[in-house]
Amino acid sequence: MQVENSDIRGHVVVVMAPMGSGKGTIVKYALAQYPGLKQTISCTSRAMRPGEVNGQQYHFVTAEEFDRKIEQGEFLEWAVFAGNKYGTLKSEILPRLADCEVVIVEIELQGVEQLLKLLPRDQMTIVYIEAGSWEVLRARAAARAPMSETELQSRYERYLIEQRAKPIADVIIDNSGNIERACVEFDQVIRAVYSKCKL
Ligand code: 5GP
Repeated sequence: MQVENSDIRGHVVVVMAPMGSGKGTIVKYALAQYPGLKQTISCTSRAMRPGEVNGQQYHFVTAEEFDRKIEQGEFLEWAVFAGNKYGTLKSEILPRLADCEVVIVEIELQGVEQLLKLLPRDQMTIVYIEAGSWEVLRARAAARAPMSETELQSRYERYLIEQRAKPIADVIIDNSGNIERACVEFDQVIRAVYSKCKL
């Protein structure tokens, strides 16, 4: 698929972070600071967790619906993570980029690698949120939602892979102790993006 560079006038801020890193809080803080800032809502075939609402955290679809969307070319990128499919719909991102907006996407490494091939590098900033050891992250995630041993094991394997992805990040934010400072650091990234993009 070809995305015309002339159609990309905004900027994509990619947030990559292992499970339980506090990325949700950090992104929410930035969204509250900048009225024009938007976050894409991905599609996923995974089951909803307690407290999640369809259309808010994700568009929750069946595995069959997800596959139909793949066939119909509806995704800019998609990947399998911990046994479930996740993807960014073109309709969630391309009109906003054509409209000069700054868009946050929270995706994992395979998706980032696809975006790197599709979007101009100077219109994409990759942020990695670092949040401590696997033990710390696992404890946080377990407190958030119950997870089977199989899912935990699968996520641990992905965590190791995600850790190795850090070198592709433009900015690494340390959220191992001070969430307020991490929010401010992410805010500075967004501010810098607004000041340099072709809005
Ligand atoms: P969770 O199931 O914990 O919400 O998300 C699992 C992983 O999927 C996270 O690393 C998250 O960033 C990633 N993810 C969420 N949406 C997308 C997407 O649209 N595309 C890709 N490639 N990854 C996604």
